[in-house]
Formats: sequence, structure tokens, C-alpha cells
Amino acid sequence: MTNQAFPIYTQPCGWNALLPHREARPAATGQLDVQYVVVGAGFTGMAAARRLSKLNPNADILLLEASTVGEGSSARNSGFLTREEYPSSNSAQDVEQNKVLNAFNTEAFDDLKQIIEDHQIECDFHASGRIRAAATPDGANTLRKIQQALESTGHATQTLDATSLNQLIGTSYYKFGVQTDTGHLVQPAALIRGLLGALPQQVQVHENSPVLDLKRHGKRWVLKTSSAQITADHVIMATNPSVKFFGYLQDKIVTIHTYAALTERLKPSEMASLGSLQSWGVLPAHRLGTTVRRVGADRLLVRSLYAYEHSLSETEVHEALRRRFHNRYPALTHIQLEHVWGGVTALTLNGSPYVGCLEPGLYASAGCNGSGIVKGTALGSYLAELAHANKIDPKILEAYGTANKILPDPFRALGFKVISAWESRKAGLES
Ligand SMILES: Cc1cc2nc3c(=O)[nH]c(=O)nc-3n(C[C@H](O)[C@H](O)[C@H](O)COP(=O)(O)OP(=O)(O)OC[C@H]3O[C@@H](n4cnc5c(N)ncnc54)[C@H](O)[C@@H]3O)c2cc1C
Repeated sequence: MTNQAFPIYTQPCGWNALLPHREARPAATGQLDVQYVVVGAGFTGMAAARRLSKLNPNADILLLEASTVGEGSSARNSGFLTREEYPSSNSAQDVEQNKVLNAFNTEAFDDLKQIIEDHQIECDFHASGRIRAAATPDGANTLRKIQQALESTGHATQTLDATSLNQLIGTSYYKFGVQTDTGHLVQPAALIRGLLGALPQQVQVHENSPVLDLKRHGKRWVLKTSSAQITADHVIMATNPSVKFFGYLQDKIVTIHTYAALTERLKPSEMASLGSLQSWGVLPAHRLGTTVRRVGADRLLVRSLYAYEHSLSETEVHEALRRRFHNRYPALTHIQLEHVWGGVTALTLNGSPYVGCLEPGLYASAGCNGSGIVKGTALGSYLAELAHANKIDPKILEAYGTANKILPDPFRALGFKVISAWESRKAGLES
């Protein structure tokens, strides 16, 4: 992936496969001259294009997507909307920073909610609460700390033991859990497709139009796809990890491949065995652990596995996800994984994203670290403000922090291997 201008996936997105077919917008062709180009039609790019059009209703705005909307990572995720993050420590400074962060996240979340309502986007967006669950004593200790952090910032939490977890979500795999009332789930492919439909006409969208070259010419930027050359005053790179291909942020973000699967449809009697909660999403106690959620009336989703800068084999992924699902639901070992897929995302060393101006007229946001539905929406909007007025509210940078530098390769690759081997061992049954 490091040397790829855009992600190429061998497996289609399972969420998108559940939706009716849609015709892609035509690819960009010929010579184009515009004020703004947004590269990447994920949550970040959609938010940037939306905010730009509000700030500048007469500008020409082009949104270029390498693939099709519904096949990028914004559709390939697990559909957890995270707006309430918890502070990393209970120091007054961290707690205050967390409050500001959650205020910005909430603004982005409300923005998405409003668009879903206004445009009647059918994407199964709903409040589900959140369960964090641990299978090991170490995991339980981690969750107790998270519970304290959540409570210190005013969130009501409920402790769950193995029996209550089993009653709620129908598995005896987990031994300890923490439940919060806040937390929403969504069908991510339906949401991102709906956001495309909700863009104003002013935003011209071209799919199957990967940007392959990006160069500054005087004060303007020239982008090339295989069939178009576009000259623009401002370019917003909302490509997440593939911004590295163009020579930027290589010292701040790493590309991570992670994987998800949807089960085949379960019978009503099988669904009834999945506990009393009608909608739930379970986050793991360990950051390399496995996410599970119920999907609609008759499926489950399982997400797990991480690979650094490369993809894993389809067979390996299928088998690992199947094992994780069946370990949690041994009564469902006859249930197959119907859709299995991977997606890329960008991670930073300290968990803070990069958002800012790379060069005059060139802006980027990357590294939402696995919570890009809400954060990408927030940062895409701020990036549009930066491109429009050349300034950003310093509180935003304070709240989200700034991505730290990481070591260059080969030290980075080695470091990642050592850390992930150590973390995977620590994750153990949480995987
Ligand atoms: C399996 C999985 C599960 C996840 N679960 C969650 C979750 O539950 N909740 C959550 O909030 N986040 C989750 N994430 C992370 C989330 O998907 C990302 O943070 C989010 O997609 C980031 O949005 P983005 O718009 O910044 O980037 P992306 O969604 O990656 O969008 C970038 C777009 O740019 C396009 N692009 C790239 N290069 C080019 C180019 N050269 N030219 C034109 N277009 C280009 C890509 O095709 C892509 O569509 C998950 C990720 C994965 C892979």
C-alpha cells in the first residue's frame, strides 16, 4: 500500500453488496479548471465538499474518487459512531481537552444526524448504546480504567458480569463488561452513498478517477488521472493513507489493513438465542481485539486482524474471522461468513490525526485511527474552512492533538512488528 496512489481491494465491500446496485458517476475526462478539488469521497472528503459549498456557494468544486462510493473504507467499516471519547488520564488538562474534543465530535455527529434526517437516508442509523467486553482478567482491568475515565467525564456506566452479558448478547465468551447508554450504529455503505446523494449540485463528483499525479505549477495545482488533467487553486487530500504516495505525511502515518465479515442470514430461532438486546455493538477491551455487532434483524458482523502496510491472504482472513465468530458463538458453528472483506485505514503513533496545510493551496487530513465516521466528518469540515479562509480554530488542533513523528523504515516496520507481536500476545482471547 505504501507505494500505491489509491487502495485496490480484491474483495468487494459486504455492506455495499447488501444494497441495490448503483450506477457510478462518470469518470473525469479532458482538461478541467476549478477552484477546489477534493480528492477522496469518504467521510472526510464528503464533509470537506459539503462545507466548502456552504462557505463558497459560487465556487467550482470537484470531488474525485478512485473507486466508487460504497467501496472505499468509509463503507468498509463496522459502523460504530464514536462521539464520546474518554480522557487518557484524569489530569485536569486531559479532562478539559477531552471535553472540547467531545464538543467538536458532537457537532460533527449532529451534522451527520441532520443530513440523515433531512435527506431521509435509509442507513439503519440508530442509538444502540455501547458495550465494551473483556474475556480475560487483563482485559477486565483495562475496562475498569476506561469505566473510571468515562465516569470522570460524566458518563453513566453499568458494570456487566458474565451472566448479564450472556443474557444481553447471547455469548458466555466475555467475563466482564461495561455498558454505556450513548453510542450509535449505522450501515456505513448506505450512509456514505446517502451522503453522496445529499451533496449539492455545485459539487461535481467523478468516480473511478484515481489521482495519479499531483504537482504545483506556480500558485496553482495540477492533478492527473488516467483520462483528465485538472488545474485547481486549492486541493484537499481526503485520501487517508494514500496521501503518502504523493510524498506527504510518510513520517506521521502508517497504513493498516483490517478486516470484517457479515454472516449469512440467521433464522429467527437462531437470532432469539442471541440475547435480549435487539441492537448491540461490542468493542474489545484491547485495541487489537475483535469487534462484534448485530446487524439488522438477522445477521452479525465480526471485525478483527491488523496488518501493517500489506494485505493478508483471503484464506487466512476468512479462517481467522470464522474462528473468532465461532469462538464467541459455538452454537452457531453451522453459520457461514457470507461476505468477508478488508479495508485500509491510517494510524498515527500517538492516536492524534494530522490535519493541516501541507503546502500553500494543499491541505490534508489523515489518521482518524479507526473512528473516522465522526472524526473524518469533523476534520473534513475544518479542512474546508482552512482551505477557504486559510485559518483554523486553534482549539480544534488542541482538542484533536497533532500526529507525532514516527521513525523511518526499516526501524518503523521493525518497531511495528515487535509492538504488534507483543500486543497480539497481550490481546490473547480478546482477539
Ligand atoms: C474494517 C474496518 C472497520 C472500521 N470500523 C470503524 C468503525 O466502526 N467506526 C469508525 O468510525 N471507523 C471505523 N473504521 C475506520 C474508518 O473506516 C476510517 O477512519 C474512515 O473511513 C476514514 O474516512 P476518510 O474519508 O478519511 O478515508 P477513507 O474512508 O479511506 O476515504 C478515502 C477515499 O479516498 C479514495 N482515494 C484514495 N486515494 C485516492 C486517489 N489517489 N485518488 C482519488 N481517490 C482516492 C479512496 O478510494 C477512499 O474512498 C474502520 C475501518 C475498517 C477498514
